Amino acid sequence: MQIGFIGLGHMGGPMAANLLKAGHALTVFDLSEGALDEARKAGATLAASPCAVAQASDVVITMLPAAAHVKAVYLNEDDGVLAGVRPGVPLIDSSTIDPATARMIGEAARARGNPFADAPVSGGVVGAQAGTLTFMVGADEALFETLRPVFSGMGKNMVRCGETGTGQIAKICNNLLLAISMIGVAEAMKLGESLGIDPGKLASIVNTSTGRCWSSETCNPYPDIVPTAPASRGYTGGFGADLMLKDLGLAVDAARQAKQPVFMGALAQQLYQSMSQQGLGGLDFSGIIKLYGKG
Ligand code: NAD
Repeated sequence: MQIGFIGLGHMGGPMAANLLKAGHALTVFDLSEGALDEARKAGATLAASPCAVAQASDVVITMLPAAAHVKAVYLNEDDGVLAGVRPGVPLIDSSTIDPATARMIGEAARARGNPFADAPVSGGVVGAQAGTLTFMVGADEALFETLRPVFSGMGKNMVRCGETGTGQIAKICNNLLLAISMIGVAEAMKLGESLGIDPGKLASIVNTSTGRCWSSETCNPYPDIVPTAPASRGYTGGFGADLMLKDLGLAVDAARQAKQPVFMGALAQQLYQSMSQQGLGGLDFSGIIKLYGKG
């Protein structure tokens, strides 16, 4: 398939590389010369603008930092995707943005005759490189089936969540829960340490008891409990705290619009903001345990 890809960063770069490996032809655009160079070496054709990418493609994927970039790339009247795309060509945005913007872009695309899917991912850079991402897709059933071969070039799981915007809803609700569970595990581990239980013993009890969760079992924030966890290598790699802070901001803003209280989510946002203020935003988000003091 002739695929257009815009946004070749930490996630988009390896996702595009996997589409090339899967045998698709790619036309790409990014603002970074370095990212474009990498993509060219991997076999992609470079285009001069989002509009030029769209003109050359049978499906377009975007993987951009935030809503402002997504709006600019799709809606810019001179060189945006919608200025160049042929009617009927499906558009996929895999950036993590707010559901309201996803719906707005979806409406603008449909008004021009282009189906639109919001398809944020989980799995991080490691999943993007390995081609094992999970796609949470907001699209009607027909569009979801049309796009399945595209997603399977970059990921292992694809879930249709509902209509446009529901992929983003799934993504921000999952990350809200993940942030809260990570803080809960950090708090329990540090309390156990202060009260005098061996942290490894505590973790093994939690992981066979009702406190068990991904944050305790796979990504325990206490060092040297899980050898493969970022906590066991100085909180490097993994999912950056500043990215978690961004996702919590999306969840809290969406909650405000819906007049839905998110007591724990708002507190989690403040804790990650504090982590970021202390200059720790580049660490894995399990580094939130540092707010509980040194052991
Ligand atoms: P990134 O900052 O590494 O990459 C973004 C890319 O977009 C950069 O190469 C940048 O040059 C490009 N870009 C920005 N504005 C542009 C424009 N106007 N036109 C063309 N290109 C433009 O970000 P990332 O880590 O790849 O994340 C991308 C998205 O995926 C974000 O929404 C993020 O929240 C989400 N996400 C990231 C991770 C992760 O672990 N990094 C995990 C899941 C989801």
